Amino acid sequence: MDYRSKSKNVLRPRPRISISASHAAAALTNRDAAPRRPALMQAPVLVLNATFEPINVTAVRRALVLMLKGVAQAEETQTTEVHSTSKSVSVPSVIRLLSYRHIPQQSRALSRKNILLRDRNTCQFCGQMLSASDLTLDHVMPRSRGGRSSWENLVACCYQCNNRKGDRTPEEAGLTLARRPRPFTLHTSRQLMRLIGHKDEKWRKYLFY
Ligand SMILES: [Zn+2]
Repeated sequence: MDYRSKSKNVLRPRPRISISASHAAAALTNRDAAPRRPALMQAPVLVLNATFEPINVTAVRRALVLMLKGVAQAEETQTTEVHSTSKSVSVPSVIRLLSYRHIPQQSRALSRKNILLRDRNTCQFCGQMLSASDLTLDHVMPRSRGGRSSWENLVACCYQCNNRKGDRTPEEAGLTLARRPRPFTLHTSRQLMRLIGHKDEKWRKYLFY
């Protein structure tokens, strides 16, 4: 056994618990468009904990690796199969980890991308859903007045509303926030999972909707 294969066995597979931004972005932008079939290996797969609690969304490719390593098993599959030299496997739609994994309270990096994800690319003042390039970030309490760059003080905002608001609070500008901005939590992740999986009936029973 050479060093590389040995070290591979020592490495414990660690399923990632973050939702792929590209899946979320695809779900956001293709929401009302005709469903474009993503490349099979990149299609989203819902990942459940051993307790059936949804914890993540991954790609088919990664899900197959977790299955081959014996870390996860398929709970729901698509009709499509993938073939290797020795066997064929149904493409998973939902997988479940075989041993329980403690998921710490999820916290995400404060970034423009994550704020837009949290706010679903929707201006929090006028409610328009726009592409990322048509949105900016607005400090609810303006920076010039001590407003901080935080989850609670940054929202997705269209340029029009941003100009209208200027260096004022929403109240002063006659604008109303769609909802109180909050940190990106597990709850936000669940909402995103639903958004990503809204075309896959098989996800529904795990996401309770
Ligand atoms: Zn707006």
